[in-house]
Amino acid sequence: MDCVFCKIIKKEIPAEIIYEDAKSLVFLDIAPVHPGHSLIVPKEHHATLTDTPLDLACHLMSVVKKVAPAIMQATNANGYNVGINNDAAAGQVVFHTHYHLIPRFTNDGLKLWPHQTYQEGQMKTVADRIRKEI
Ligand code: AMP
Ligand code: ZN
Repeated sequence: MDCVFCKIIKKEIPAEIIYEDAKSLVFLDIAPVHPGHSLIVPKEHHATLTDTPLDLACHLMSVVKKVAPAIMQATNANGYNVGINNDAAAGQVVFHTHYHLIPRFTNDGLKLWPHQTYQEGQMKTVADRIRKEI
């Protein structure tokens, strides 16, 4: 399988690894939003968050909580975003599940996504549809 993150995990290609444990690896994104932008990945290959077992996804979030204060301190960040691009329509490019941890700075001007407004009654319709599926 030709997966760039599996290659990093197997140390076949270089990466700036900042944390590693039995189930996960954290390394710097090669094209960061801001320096310190990190990727939290499971060592096991799962293409998307949807495919990732719940206990592993929870472990990855515990790693986010562990590395975030260090990234904040090291970059003098004022905050951070945690993001997952899940599936191609959401911008996923590397199909090995990963959490982005992006350091943020006061007034850094980055707008992650635009907002829109609901039409009259549309908000309840959407919520009803989702509630039925849960
Ligand atoms: P996504 O759109 O969520 O799939 O993002 C994939 C991320 O992986 C992008 O932000 C890329 O910059 C990053 N990336 C791709 N290849 C490498 C690599 N070899 N080392 C570090 N980061 C990478
Ligand atoms: Zn992989």
